[in-house]
Amino acid sequence: MNDYYAILGVAKGASAEQVKAAYRKASRAHHPDIVGHTPAAEEKFKQINAAFEVLSDPKKREMYDLGVDPLAPGAGAAAGANPFGGFAGSFGGFSDIFEAMFNAAAGGAAGQAGPASRASRGRDQLERIAIELKEAVFGGVEEVVYLTYLTCAGCGGDGCAPGTGPSVCSACQGRGVRERLVRSLLGTVRTMDPCRQCQGFGNIIASPCPDCSGQGRVRGQASVEVEVPPGVDNGNRLRLVGKGEAGPAGGPNADLYIEFKVKRHPDFVRDGDDLLATLPIPMTAAALGAAIAVETFDGPAVVDVKPGSQPGAVIVLEGLGVGRLGQRTRGDLRVQLDVRVPTELDDSQRELLRRLALERREERPEPRLASTGGVFSRLKDKLTGK
Ligand SMILES: [Zn+2]
Ligand SMILES: [Zn+2]
Repeated sequence: MNDYYAILGVAKGASAEQVKAAYRKASRAHHPDIVGHTPAAEEKFKQINAAFEVLSDPKKREMYDLGVDPLAPGAGAAAGANPFGGFAGSFGGFSDIFEAMFNAAAGGAAGQAGPASRASRGRDQLERIAIELKEAVFGGVEEVVYLTYLTCAGCGGDGCAPGTGPSVCSACQGRGVRERLVRSLLGTVRTMDPCRQCQGFGNIIASPCPDCSGQGRVRGQASVEVEVPPGVDNGNRLRLVGKGEAGPAGGPNADLYIEFKVKRHPDFVRDGDDLLATLPIPMTAAALGAAIAVETFDGPAVVDVKPGSQPGAVIVLEGLGVGRLGQRTRGDLRVQLDVRVPTELDDSQRELLRRLALERREERPEPRLASTGGVFSRLKDKLTGK
């Protein structure tokens, strides 16, 4: 006769609570889903359940204490009609056991009706490219070369050596899962584990493709032509559907994202849709006015300096800025005048300027400090928040 007290590790006089606690502990420690489905483990688990069945039922326990195993064949009325035990609905609070069962089975194809697919989608990937400012202004085409996963040319993605194919798993007949009936407190529970022989795929690749070791994809270089939209700016991303990694085992391609960085330009600075540039002009040109030819991204253009232009004045060349993303219009080119005061005058130049100063009664400038109207006033407004 089985020693049910020893199996659960409780004393003969153990209370119902102690039996319950011992059973919980033992069934968790010896659950075949946790310790592995060896015949010995299955048998041990069966004994733990039998011990609990007897010791938790006052009638069966009494019978057992009298020297009759109520579970033994022919033990009479005490043996339940249900060969897996009559515990259904008797106890609550055992969800942790089923959690343990579930956790042990999870991670594979458990719970799925059929075999798992070897194929899965690749991962999205990001490539960064640097473009010239001019390309951001007008848009353009860039060829991007990048490392990714490519569908294996040797096997076309199925991972099998040429001339071979996957064979149906003999252990699970292609179903990918192994079904088992487990006796538990709630009666018989059907569990589905991923098949160990095929990892739940339902088939086995006996001769893997030598090019990709059966992965169906290989690391390699790809290239793509990217349309750079006018107006693109730092950090903008473009999504190219299906240009990312090929999936394992012929799974679908992921997407490729292109992130733009716009290089610095020696002459132009970008300000949103506008371009900014500085134009150094001599003092005389600022005073007399001048039409100054400059080179822009659109070719030669003329900056019309009005007579009497002040240092820092901005002349706007409309429509010569950066293309506006998604629109047909463009920003402006804003040219700021950098008026240069002549230095290193020779004698006759100095004489000319002195005569000019006399003529304009500027030989002795007004000795007056003012807080308004000069270059500092703008600074002051900024500081005082006006
Ligand atoms: Zn291959
Ligand atoms: Zn299998």
